[in-house]
Amino acid sequence: MKQKNNGTWVSWNENLKHNYKTMYSITKEDELQEVIANNEKIRFFGSKQSSADIAAGTDAIINMSTYNKIISYDYNLKTITVESGLILSELLEAIESVGWCIPCLPDINTITIGGALATGTHGTSGKLLAEYMTECRLILADGTIRTVAKEDELMDAVKVSLGMLGVMSTITFQCEPAYTLHIKERPENDSEWLPKIKSRLKKHDFLRILWLPHTNKGYVITGDKIDPEKEITENKGPNYLKHRRNTSKFLYKYSHKFPWITAIANKILAKAFFSSKKEHKGTLYQATVTKSRGSTLELAEWTIALDKFPEVFNELKTEINKWSNKSFIHIPMDVRFVYQDNSWLSYAYKQDTVTMGCVSRNAATADTYEAFKSIEKIFLKHGGRPHWGKRFSAKDIQLSKVYPKWGAFKEIREKLDPTNKFLNPYLTKLVAAKTLVNETAA
Ligand SMILES: Cc1cc2nc3c(=O)[nH]c(=O)nc-3n(C[C@H](O)[C@H](O)[C@H](O)COP(=O)(O)OP(=O)(O)OC[C@H]3O[C@@H](n4cnc5c(N)ncnc54)[C@H](O)[C@@H]3O)c2cc1C
Repeated sequence: MKQKNNGTWVSWNENLKHNYKTMYSITKEDELQEVIANNEKIRFFGSKQSSADIAAGTDAIINMSTYNKIISYDYNLKTITVESGLILSELLEAIESVGWCIPCLPDINTITIGGALATGTHGTSGKLLAEYMTECRLILADGTIRTVAKEDELMDAVKVSLGMLGVMSTITFQCEPAYTLHIKERPENDSEWLPKIKSRLKKHDFLRILWLPHTNKGYVITGDKIDPEKEITENKGPNYLKHRRNTSKFLYKYSHKFPWITAIANKILAKAFFSSKKEHKGTLYQATVTKSRGSTLELAEWTIALDKFPEVFNELKTEINKWSNKSFIHIPMDVRFVYQDNSWLSYAYKQDTVTMGCVSRNAATADTYEAFKSIEKIFLKHGGRPHWGKRFSAKDIQLSKVYPKWGAFKEIREKLDPTNKFLNPYLTKLVAAKTLVNETAA
């Protein structure tokens, strides 16, 4: 195990910085146990790609990304067991090579498995990644191991738990046979795509809408399972489409000073990059997951029950189109669909859910990006839930109103971590933990 003393931990987009006394880079489960048992306070991080301040902020921290091996495959059950610091791309390449898939993937492949599960990371037209986990070995606050299997009463609390119940050590995923999607992409007016959501969810195996604020348009992406050998007329659109992210960054450069620039930039970007039709095929991973990003960004994401989405969408659109308000939103707002589950802190707990992303292309000025505040206000008002890994300001009281199992989660957390070992100052406020005698954080 490697150890580094007295350094600064910096998140991917450099918006979060914390000094630490000791950083452990672990490669074995017993090292993980030892470090957890021997530190009074500890956090652990994967690829540091969360915008929320949930991964560090304690004197001792663990780098999980060095704990990254594939442990075993069960070819009969189609399961794979991996160490939690494995990068998602490596997991996906490994299962594709044996003809399997996980049928709902996020739009990023550089995150670790542990980080992805802990924050409820999801894709579209399926369930949270955590729903495909059938077993995990959880290292508890005293360093002991608890194996949490599918039928374990703790499973629904552990799946999405921000590393507040313990550290996931090894994880087993249930995979499915790989399939090929025929993807079609095209622009559509808001008046066209919004009423078609439910019928499209029934008709297609994949649905994602990139909403283009201040243009009255969305860019609709549908996917249908096809025979991999089926010929399609491939159309990847003009070559210059690959410059979208850099052009956006350039056009939005001064939008923090003059937010109205965004409305003009969006019209240009929509015309240049979202007006052509596209058609291609590939596996879910090949055809829909972004493999490289030119620059960093800051993200928020809010989720709402499918039935309530049109009302919330219309309210948000009206609000941001008022020139009196500074909430001009960078392109695109990613609209995706997650089917209901039973995980306590899942966005889709007991309800089919729509997720709506909100991006600031300029991470450094994210504090001045009014859109994050407006979207939070509107979604919270309607009972929306925030993405745990992204930017939001809601705390315990608001969260208890939108997560029915918030109180039960807090009870289990207190039982499993009675000394608040796994809480940094941000998480302490999030769960409104009582500060204990001898505790200096918060
Ligand atoms: C460009 C970009 C695109 C994104 N796309 C999507 C998307 O499509 N869908 C989506 O839902 N989200 C998306 N996200 C959010 C992202 O998936 C989450 O923030 C994820 O947590 C990042 O993983 P990480 O490895 O960087 O984790 P970190 O940010 O390092 O850690 C996140 C949390 O996980 C905890 N953790 C890490 N390892 C473990 C472990 N082994 N056991 C328990 N807890 C652990 C950490 O302590 C921390 O609380 C995106 C983020 C970015 C920057």
